Amino acid sequence: MADNIVHLVLARTPGAPEGVKGISLFIVPKFLVDAQGNIGARNDVFCTSVEHKLGIKASPTAVLLYGDGKFPVAPQAGGAAAPGAIGWLVGEENRGLEYMFVMMNAARFAVGMQGVAVAERAYQKAVQYARDRVQSRAVEGSSGPVAIIQHPDVRRMLMTMRALTEGARALGYVAASAYDAAHASPDAETRKANQSFYEFLVPIVKGFSTEMSLEVTSLGVQVHGGMGFIEETGAAQYYRDARILTIYEGTTAIQANDLIGRKTVRDGGQTVRGVLARVRETLSEMREDGGDLSAIAQRLREGVEAMEQSVAHLVSMGKGDARAVYAGSVPYLMLCGTVLAGWQMARAALRARTLLEAGSDDAAFLKAKIGTARFYADHVLPRAVALQASIVEGAAGTLALDEAMF
Ligand SMILES: Cc1cc2nc3c(=O)[nH]c(=O)nc-3n(C[C@H](O)[C@H](O)[C@H](O)COP(=O)(O)OP(=O)(O)OC[C@H]3O[C@@H](n4cnc5c(N)ncnc54)[C@H](O)[C@@H]3O)c2cc1C
Repeated sequence: MADNIVHLVLARTPGAPEGVKGISLFIVPKFLVDAQGNIGARNDVFCTSVEHKLGIKASPTAVLLYGDGKFPVAPQAGGAAAPGAIGWLVGEENRGLEYMFVMMNAARFAVGMQGVAVAERAYQKAVQYARDRVQSRAVEGSSGPVAIIQHPDVRRMLMTMRALTEGARALGYVAASAYDAAHASPDAETRKANQSFYEFLVPIVKGFSTEMSLEVTSLGVQVHGGMGFIEETGAAQYYRDARILTIYEGTTAIQANDLIGRKTVRDGGQTVRGVLARVRETLSEMREDGGDLSAIAQRLREGVEAMEQSVAHLVSMGKGDARAVYAGSVPYLMLCGTVLAGWQMARAALRARTLLEAGSDDAAFLKAKIGTARFYADHVLPRAVALQASIVEGAAGTLALDEAMF
């Protein structure tokens, strides 16, 4: 499909220091290229197989052999051909891992958005099916069977899918705008503040958005009933495709370790408390009128308290019992994602109400925004309290069994 394939490869040079300090980055092309850019002899790199995967089957994850002697090459013109792939060093020797992280940091954010994208598609497909599929009479009585979108539990599933996707998407956009401000703001203080906000959010965008995509795509299958389990409807494909997202570019646990260690305990909780102060600012703007916004504010306040208490616990434990702290790492990541996405839903509801009161002509969209935020508050935000219990009291149970007992 292409004239040449260029592999970016991490490898060690002879005598390089032990461990990650001795890794360099190379370009290894399939075909060697001369100084004029002409494609020449085959390099000693060979694809031995393409992996058989659960999902993302259009992405050909491959096993490559370097220097196996299948295509011996001469390192110098006129020299003897020998096994060994030829590569070109990128940048400086032994700085390969550092270079890789330039790609990884961008990729972590991008994989989080992949989670949002597949969740959105699963939601759209589920809505379409729920409108078309006729099954069972309505609970309140009907002359005949109705479209399943009329059943309250199908509504619950669709609203869960919609609310999680909207919350994660909004959080991703907040992270993206912080990234822009960290790079492009004329003010040095603003750049610094946005950089630390962005760095705090990246493991959350990656971990939370991809974990929620598993829940959403699984619900997408459920909305389709038995047809969801049949490949030809396509609902199962989203579920299979989403399954890699919590694994590659660092598993959820690796994101959570970063969040709890480098981004929370190391600075004594300063960054996260700064973020929570911003959530409290939003809460102070939410006029309590006994309606939807009051209910949203109430749940968001409980979520903020759950985060504050968890952070206080983790920071006080931080220097002592590391195993107990890290036993709560993924629950902590999910707590942060749940509450901070809930914060975005509250901000959206606040803005929607202002526009409605100003007589906007897009009332249906704005009412749907408030309704979805209300659903998120009633059905997703209460998870924060359960996650707090896991973080603060759950370590003993997680670590209760000796290895031999498994
Ligand atoms: C389809 C696909 C495409 C890929 N593409 C690329 C690519 O282009 N480039 C590339 O470099 N890699 C790629 N990978 C590799 C991928 O990034 C790794 O598989 C992934 O980071 C997980 O690492 P691992 O497989 O070694 O799992 P392991 O590290 O063995 O993890 C196994 C389990 O242990 C847990 N675990 C491990 N360490 C810890 C810890 N310290 N704390 C808590 N839990 C822990 C993990 O969370 C996981 O649940 C790809 C993988 C797949 C499946």
